[in-house]
Amino acid sequence: MKKIVLASNNIHKVKEIKEILSDYEILTLNDISFYDDIVEDGDTFLDNALIKARTISKYIRELGFDYDVIADDSGLCCKGLDGAPGVYSARYAGNHDDSANRKKIIHELKGKDKTANFVCCMVLYRPDDTYYSFEGTTSGVIISEERGKTDFGYDCIFLSDDLGITFGEASDREKNKVSHRKRALEKVKIKLEK
Ligand code: IMP
Repeated sequence: MKKIVLASNNIHKVKEIKEILSDYEILTLNDISFYDDIVEDGDTFLDNALIKARTISKYIRELGFDYDVIADDSGLCCKGLDGAPGVYSARYAGNHDDSANRKKIIHELKGKDKTANFVCCMVLYRPDDTYYSFEGTTSGVIISEERGKTDFGYDCIFLSDDLGITFGEASDREKNKVSHRKRALEKVKIKLEK
């Protein structure tokens, strides 16, 4: 089985990506013993995905491996907030506190257009420093009360247009059919198969 390094340890992402790329052995950052913090200070999802991909590709090549790396950056873009929180989704309320982030969005969207997209930029980074980038989006509406599981980001306040329920209420299987990551990953998968 071909090995690919995923530049993440986020359990939700790892699970989602392993399910979609089930023909590959997906190694996480823990699997390659990478424990440093990567500073994601780019202005766009692509910038941040590339920062992660380049850092990890360099690290594994120094260890003598020539695996492809997949890195993603994603976030929520709200129409009524001119695309915010965007690349700042994880720390919108100041620190990495999902519950505080959700409260802030609900508060700021009062009286504004609540349509929103999750956006995912995924980079497939090759050992020769070339890369391909792919974008996936999924649309919905931000609701003002939490519904379903509250353990990941904005899931429980994102009412999906495709599913008619929030991502927090959806099973992993349901979410994985329509998620922004799934849509970006499908494009990665096609590229890998070429
Ligand atoms: P990351 O930088 O790609 O890890 O994601 C940034 C932030 O966007 C996460 O911490 C979440 O707050 C939010 N986010 C990205 N994807 C999702 C999702 O599928 N559901 C809920 N929140 C998400």
